[in-house]
Amino acid sequence: MKITDIQAYNLRIPIDDQGFGFSQKWVKARTALIVKIVTENGTVGWGEAFCHDAGHAIEAIICETLKPHLLGRNPLHINVLWDHLYNWTKDYGQKGLVISALSAIDIALWDILGKVSNLPIVTLLGGQFFERIQGYATGLYMRDAEDDRSNLVDEARSYVDQGFEHLKMKVGYGLAKDIRNVTAVREAIGSNIHLMIDANHAYDATTAIRLGKELFHLNLDWFEEPVSPEDIDGYLDVRKALDMAIAGGEAEFTRFGFRRLITQRAVDIVQPDICATGGLTEGRRIADMARTWHIRCIPHVWGTAIGRVASLHFIASLPPTPPALFPQEPLLELDLTPHPLRDEVVLNPPEVVDGWVRVPQSPGLGIDVNEAFLEKHKLIR
Ligand code: MG
Repeated sequence: MKITDIQAYNLRIPIDDQGFGFSQKWVKARTALIVKIVTENGTVGWGEAFCHDAGHAIEAIICETLKPHLLGRNPLHINVLWDHLYNWTKDYGQKGLVISALSAIDIALWDILGKVSNLPIVTLLGGQFFERIQGYATGLYMRDAEDDRSNLVDEARSYVDQGFEHLKMKVGYGLAKDIRNVTAVREAIGSNIHLMIDANHAYDATTAIRLGKELFHLNLDWFEEPVSPEDIDGYLDVRKALDMAIAGGEAEFTRFGFRRLITQRAVDIVQPDICATGGLTEGRRIADMARTWHIRCIPHVWGTAIGRVASLHFIASLPPTPPALFPQEPLLELDLTPHPLRDEVVLNPPEVVDGWVRVPQSPGLGIDVNEAFLEKHKLIR
């Protein structure tokens, strides 16, 4: 069995209203980079790369740098191909766009393996610990730069009404505004709903510690990306100073990038993104390393239905950490912000029922990609 073709679809659709913001930027369009791998027997695999506004660059890496190394190779030799591509690009590609490109390739290879084996990816990963995964609502971004409290309260209540028991909101706008916003949301949803905060690395360690202490009484499940991803010492300071779980890792790549974060116990929860950190192959290695240091793994998810389903298979395959009769169950990040591409790229997006999502049981990823939609919306490089 041989790979005969690889195509990349770079998609971008503006958001209708003024967009939404977080501590680093405003988002006014949603993008996606989808990859298709074709084999000589007609089996097709699909993957997705975490891309923000760098779709053209990732498309070029896939089509011009990685594709020549994959044509004619056996798509079932996933580890061999992963290693070859990583080593070929190592001198310039250990983090960032090259690894995102490799992630999309890796997910598509797993999709092919599943289709050829007639098994869902979660079975190929060793089986599923959970048949369905509880989602947490990611939303509560900035809409109004001045005072967002009424928007945030309405949005938070809408998630609770949809059945979500876990919500994550953005902080990183300055201490006074953060305290005002988080307090308003906590008061609106009550004490029985789990609430997490995410600063998207807007603070230095001193400021993050001050914020965490001010918000301690609001019973937060975790404080995500309090400091810059490069600042491992800052993470250690924050984690030692605060009596709350610290999460991070969405801007980190491969097991080599996660090594210090995990082995120095800089976080309580690691958040690799399967579409960015090296795909399912590397995600598994990172999760194994995290578990070896008794650290939970709750992946970051920010893509279309393709990335969401790949993450779903991955999360369902992770053993509870720590194991227990009544363990802390895993969570699937469900980005609920406006995203015109999210569900449209497939014909059968995963259904969210009362905040829960079932793991697909058909072969591979278990999705049918809407190729007509991809062709219609792809940007020409
Ligand atoms: Mg985040």
